[in-house]
Amino acid sequence: MKPLQRERSVTFEVGAGFYRPKSRIVRDLGVLAAAVYQAQNGSLRVLDGLSATGVRSLRYCHEAKADWVWANEGNPDLCNTLKQNLATLLPDKAEVSSLNVHHLCMARTLAGDRYDFVDIDAFGSGSQFVADALDVTKIGGLMYLTSTDGRTYSGREPQRALRQYGSFMRSHPSVQEQGLRLLLGNLVQQAAQRNLGIEPIFSFFWGDTCRVMARLTHKPTLTELNYGFLGYCHHCGNYHQPTWKKLSQAVCPHDDFPLTLSGALWLGKLHNADFLSEMAELAKDWQWPDVVKLLTTMQSESEFPPYFFPLKEIGYRGKLDLPPLDQLLTALQTKDFQSSRTHIQTQAIKTNASMQEIVAIILNISRIL
Ligand SMILES: [Zn+2]
Repeated sequence: MKPLQRERSVTFEVGAGFYRPKSRIVRDLGVLAAAVYQAQNGSLRVLDGLSATGVRSLRYCHEAKADWVWANEGNPDLCNTLKQNLATLLPDKAEVSSLNVHHLCMARTLAGDRYDFVDIDAFGSGSQFVADALDVTKIGGLMYLTSTDGRTYSGREPQRALRQYGSFMRSHPSVQEQGLRLLLGNLVQQAAQRNLGIEPIFSFFWGDTCRVMARLTHKPTLTELNYGFLGYCHHCGNYHQPTWKKLSQAVCPHDDFPLTLSGALWLGKLHNADFLSEMAELAKDWQWPDVVKLLTTMQSESEFPPYFFPLKEIGYRGKLDLPPLDQLLTALQTKDFQSSRTHIQTQAIKTNASMQEIVAIILNISRIL
């Protein structure tokens, strides 16, 4: 028998399933958001669509104080382990099932059962469970969705992106953020079809996985400003957001070269800064310093345009040696540009400065030194 695993406050068996200790931080963020929701609303009913060993369900109950968790695992071979791990919660605080996620969500929807918090941690295209999440989440509730299809969002297989998401993805230096925006775009568009809206709570890129947490709202939130195209100029390395009406004139404002366009995708904020600060307070109380650090970076990047500049790309474009990242951020701010780190890539910056302005500022720094 494999030894028991421990994560934060819970212990569990892995059995025939799999468990990645490294992805604990993804679950930490889910638990914090659920705990903030429970504190704000006084109730928390969770649907955990692909439970595997049940570690998330256990943590939603123990740490976020969920009233009730539906833990479902599609693979019947894992069902016994899941039942065993959740034994102390059954039957008053949890239900365990081994159903196809689509079937489960359809059954709950037909029964008129809606959840405060829906977590579907799936492999592959994020679009496959968007409709299910929209069906089974309460208005005002939170949805935690996943995509792991890097080839699709990075522009390597744009045809697949078109089939899965109805959007065409092209390659540029910030495709990891594009993955988050592709999933959010699909979510806001499918919500709008139902005359509903979504509001991102946080968006987390980790490893090669995109995870987005969004609130379902009763009014549509999609507009032609927050759902559209991101253009990239391969000639000068700048990004631009052409409007829907000006798509036919989508050229780089710096040099008139045609832009490579990705879209349609979510162009609004990746995070809700107020919600993040409540999560950060809780993470401090619970003494989770790595999560506090991550949330601080997320807070600082939440007001920036929908892309970033990797330092490697800046060095290549400007043919120059780069200063330390913090020095570059300060130098940009001294010149009245906004600048921030991004959680998506440690060696990259978000800024409203253009590539040429960034390069000029770095040249200036090296002249002073
Ligand atoms: Zn250009």
